[in-house]
Amino acid sequence: RTVYVNGEYLPEHEAKVSIFDRAFLMADGVYEVTSVLDGKLIDFAGHAARLERSLKELDMRAPCDTDTLLEVHRELVRLNGIEEGLVYLQVTRGAPGDRDFVFPDPETTEPTLVLFTQNKPGLADSPAAKTGMRIISIEDQRWGRRDIKTVQLLYPSMGKMMAKKAGADDAWMVEDGFVTEGTSNNAYIVKGNKIITRALSNDILHGITRAAVLRFAREAQMEVEERNFSIEEAQAADEAFVTSASAFVMPVVEIDGVAVGAGTPGHRAVRLREIYLDESRKAAV
Ligand code: PMP
Repeated sequence: RTVYVNGEYLPEHEAKVSIFDRAFLMADGVYEVTSVLDGKLIDFAGHAARLERSLKELDMRAPCDTDTLLEVHRELVRLNGIEEGLVYLQVTRGAPGDRDFVFPDPETTEPTLVLFTQNKPGLADSPAAKTGMRIISIEDQRWGRRDIKTVQLLYPSMGKMMAKKAGADDAWMVEDGFVTEGTSNNAYIVKGNKIITRALSNDILHGITRAAVLRFAREAQMEVEERNFSIEEAQAADEAFVTSASAFVMPVVEIDGVAVGAGTPGHRAVRLREIYLDESRKAAV
């Protein structure tokens, strides 16, 4: 695999980052994951805009402009022959010469920019989309700025492990009695013609797929209600699903052992997945 590090395209075993890099020592970095379909990038503009916001919120310097980032994404997709898969991008505050809690001077410490691709043939035609996911609920024990897409992913990773141990596919996190989001996706329930999902705040990541799917839902004459919901309400809903750049729209068929609706993928979730894939392919760059 050819990867990108600070201006260079390299074989992955030649790519190096300092042990003093702030992401390695302090999780002081942000990331984006953009999917690739038909060799093209899905919603690159959305991911670039969110990256800019994450950097700004953390007072971190951008490593380059958006046009350059687009070029690097495209070049990596080309060099690695990706038809379906993902591009991972990470920006860190860089590597000052020592470990210190205080941010280094941005004039002297360059941000670190790393990108690599993940080849995932069959991503859009995933069998999981046909069977649906079984999820468990867990307490949300993350920090309070989940709107910033940092590489601080230990708790979500632990959540996936809790799900795996319980024989489930993923976990939804719950805070003060309400679902925040999935470990790596936004969470939704469907009641009648209404798509219900938590409103944007610092409590959840502002999903790029979420924004697109809510727009498509409205265009397809579904109602959208942005509000909190509990696990109990979700278990009693007609349908449930999640969205993310890597899973698109994925039906949820079971929550904490209770079947949602008929216990099979709901027709609105399936329809939204089709619309999302069709429209995203058309708009890909
Ligand atoms: N919430 C969390 C916690 C996530 O990690 C992700 C995926 N990065 C999402 C939501 C979905 O965001 P997006 O649609 O931009 O991939």
